[in-house]
Amino acid sequence: MKLSIIVPSFNEEETLNELYNELIKTFKEINFEIIFVNDGSFDNTFKILKDLYGQDKERVRVINFSRNFGKEASIYAGLKNSKGEYTSIIDADLQQEPKYLLKALKFLEENETTDMVALIPDKKSFFSNMFYKTINVLSDIKLKNNASDFRIFRENVKNACLMIGESNRFSKGIFSWIGFDTYYMEYKLKERKKGKTKFSFRKKISYAIDGITAFSVKPLRIAGKIGLLITIICFIYLAYIIVKTILLGAKTPGFATLACLVLFSMGIELIFMGIIGEYLSKTFIETKKRPPYIEKSRFGLDEDIL
Ligand code: UDP
Ligand code: MG
Repeated sequence: MKLSIIVPSFNEEETLNELYNELIKTFKEINFEIIFVNDGSFDNTFKILKDLYGQDKERVRVINFSRNFGKEASIYAGLKNSKGEYTSIIDADLQQEPKYLLKALKFLEENETTDMVALIPDKKSFFSNMFYKTINVLSDIKLKNNASDFRIFRENVKNACLMIGESNRFSKGIFSWIGFDTYYMEYKLKERKKGKTKFSFRKKISYAIDGITAFSVKPLRIAGKIGLLITIICFIYLAYIIVKTILLGAKTPGFATLACLVLFSMGIELIFMGIIGEYLSKTFIETKKRPPYIEKSRFGLDEDIL
């Protein structure tokens, strides 16, 4: 098997058939498999995928989750079950065209020292730019060129990703953390053909927090440093008051200042407790060692682990 194509799919009934046809057309000369992961969809996605499997048992595989576990879990399930010499990830909504994967595959075949081709969109939204900038400042990994999960890579990269067993998975970070030689290739990001984006503003914010906390403890350090700074300022202020009142005998009506200081430090403390809570909750989830996803059924794949 030359190529495995992983397609995370959550409520994508409107585009799956077209995507399948496109993939078949693009890769007609290649021995490949498509691993569709149905991530707990509640529309007709599962039925469509089962029909596609019925039509093309040679190439179609379906992993059906017991509920929605998120795109990251879908990617992980795909990686775990892929058999290809090369593995790729593509969205189900046709924003990313398969022809770019073919181009990237050819590049990998011609360049032995490159391990992965990451496709970068020609258009970058304001939010996506902010997301990459913040993550690069706050975390220990560097995410280059707004590269997303649309990529193709060799088996060494796939195996490295699978070695990372954490359940709070942030693929973009994992791809950067594992290293290897990555080539960045631009592609034309299309508008979503049908259906709606699955990442609402709230979901994007929580995804960004997950990404930062998965790869950095910098926010904790910043919290500590600001705490120290405030302590120093307060200490100086205290010394000033002591000198002024006790030594110089000045009257100090300090009620308003005091109230402000107390409220200010309380606010800062609560923010930092929130940051610590964020990390603690991640540790809590990881120590339980829950699997990143649960399968309900699978089609076209060897062992029947449900
Ligand atoms: N997706 C998924 N599980 C989710 C959310 C999204 O498998 O919980 C899939 C979705 O079906 C699509 C891909 O992830 O194939 C990217 O989602 P989307 O196009 O909504 O994201 P956007 O392009 O708007 O960032
Ligand atoms: Mg999309």
